[in-house]
Amino acid sequence: MNKAPVQVKVVLLGDSGVGKSSIVLRFVADNFKSDGEATIGASYMGKILQFNDKTIKFNIWDTAGQERYHSLAKMYYRDANAAIMVYDITKKGSFEGLKKWQKELADFGPKDISIIIAGNKEDLVECEATSPEEAKAFAKSIGALYKKTSAKTNYGVEQIFRDLAAKLFPEI
Ligand code: GDP
Repeated sequence: MNKAPVQVKVVLLGDSGVGKSSIVLRFVADNFKSDGEATIGASYMGKILQFNDKTIKFNIWDTAGQERYHSLAKMYYRDANAAIMVYDITKKGSFEGLKKWQKELADFGPKDISIIIAGNKEDLVECEATSPEEAKAFAKSIGALYKKTSAKTNYGVEQIFRDLAAKLFPEI
């Protein structure tokens, strides 16, 4: 008998242009747009993944461009189970920006939220402007996982959702 999927709310955080919408589009629709127009308005997408005998529905909320004004509504964070904090490995400033996002998450997000830090644009690793060791150390200091992704090549994208699920449900 099929059991109803377990619902998991995931929010994306990170500076504008780091690839948040692209990661979601790659994960949900296996698609990539190199001239990605900024998302306007509320942005929600869902995707189901199977884990042995558990079915998880990821309800994914993207900032929809609001991060530019630093005015993410409180309901964005409400009841979130997991957060993906994204930076662009070629832009040092976007890594520094994570500290601001982490503070915001600590102030407004649920206390027990699971966090993964995604160093995106792994396909441009020859232009890497951040130290992965520093990123790993920061992730560790906030109890988060650290992974690299490329929405362009699909490197590591589904894996960050699998890692979050494993963090939330250690038995799977
Ligand atoms: P957001 O503002 O954080 O949602 O970022 P977008 O998803 O709109 O992406 C910003 C720009 O970066 C777009 O031009 C994307 O095509 C590009 N981009 C996103 N992910 C990647 C990636 O993994 N590699 C490369 N080379 N470009 C990417």
